[in-house]
Amino acid sequence: MTLFDSPAFEGHEGVHAFSDEKSGLKCIIAVHSTARGPAAGGCRMWPYASSEEALVDALRLSRAMSYKNAMADLELGGGKSVIIGDSRTQKTPQLFEAFGRAVEDVGGKYWTAEDVGVSPVDLAYARTQTRYVAGLDGHAAASGDPSPVTAEGVFRGVRLCVQRALKRDLGGVRVAIQGVGHVGEYLAKKLHAAGAKLILTDVNGETLRRVAAETNAEVVAPSAIFDVDADVFAPCALGGAISLDTLSRIRAKIIAGAANNQLASADAGRELFNRGVLYAPDYVINGGGIINVAGEIRALDRDEAFDPAWVDAKLDRLMLTLEEVLDQAQHERRPTHEVANEIARARIVGAVRKQAAA
Ligand code: NAD
Repeated sequence: MTLFDSPAFEGHEGVHAFSDEKSGLKCIIAVHSTARGPAAGGCRMWPYASSEEALVDALRLSRAMSYKNAMADLELGGGKSVIIGDSRTQKTPQLFEAFGRAVEDVGGKYWTAEDVGVSPVDLAYARTQTRYVAGLDGHAAASGDPSPVTAEGVFRGVRLCVQRALKRDLGGVRVAIQGVGHVGEYLAKKLHAAGAKLILTDVNGETLRRVAAETNAEVVAPSAIFDVDADVFAPCALGGAISLDTLSRIRAKIIAGAANNQLASADAGRELFNRGVLYAPDYVINGGGIINVAGEIRALDRDEAFDPAWVDAKLDRLMLTLEEVLDQAQHERRPTHEVANEIARARIVGAVRKQAAA
């Protein structure tokens, strides 16, 4: 495969590869689009088996960030960085300083933040070399943990889907949550407070028991969550929860949760539609986290303090976008994820045209 032939490359403005012999850094920064603003997306550290695998992941993730940022109506494009390495054994301050220099070299076209394998402590080292870092603690612009904001967006999205598909409010609605980690726990508490009946699972038994006790929830084994009698299935663990196999077991009429890349395949998305299940596209409903990060970038850019009211207004706007996706999908009798992709692409193309005309 050459870079330009890769299906994942399509539409990318730039791909930057950096290495630093002294620290051992090998990283790729992919900038999919800056049409709506500087590209923003986290940095992932992962022991990729090959540089090709790292490249494809960076490209796939950066394009996904363009779509997510566009749907969250942020003045940000999409980008992502990946560091090739094992985050458990290969992290050093020098590695992240070298990463910071790489981000600086991209000249402000890319803002980095946390992703899998990278923590605020690591980013603090990167920040010594570049200002284009969000997700740090301890300054006035800092946005803190994005999980509560992600959970608030998902909560509002679940409520919207329940109102539309079941014509009722959340009281007594049965919600199955797969994964009660950072986002899942906040979501469970919000739904419980709104009167929903919860069925929870997690591979971490201790967390599961604690959250279940606090939300008066029923507990099932991880493999049993697809078979429970629920109105809503909320994937809040890893990606790929919705496959043709799991779909044949899920009885819920609504799928709405925080996890990224919920659909294991395009076929699974089509099948959801064929079965009349209302699916809230993952990268729309879980946009609260990136909105929170965008609040930090905005504050840093303006040399202001973080503004929670701005974040809340963006969350309101996100719900209008989700409604727009659901309306259009219903009107055109098409799967919601296809409609969301189309709207995201149109928003990006619109920004490109505006740029060209300016
Ligand atoms: P997390 O790691 O804190 O929580 C995930 C939970 O899922 C953990 O408790 C884990 O034990 C559990 N889990 C893993 N595999 C499981 C399985 N097979 N069955 C049941 N439980 C399982 O992560 P998080 O920050 O809560 O994020 C959850 C999902 O939401 C991820 O897909 C993430 O990419 C996505 N997301 C998170 C944010 C955010 O703000 N944190 C924003 C957008 C999207």
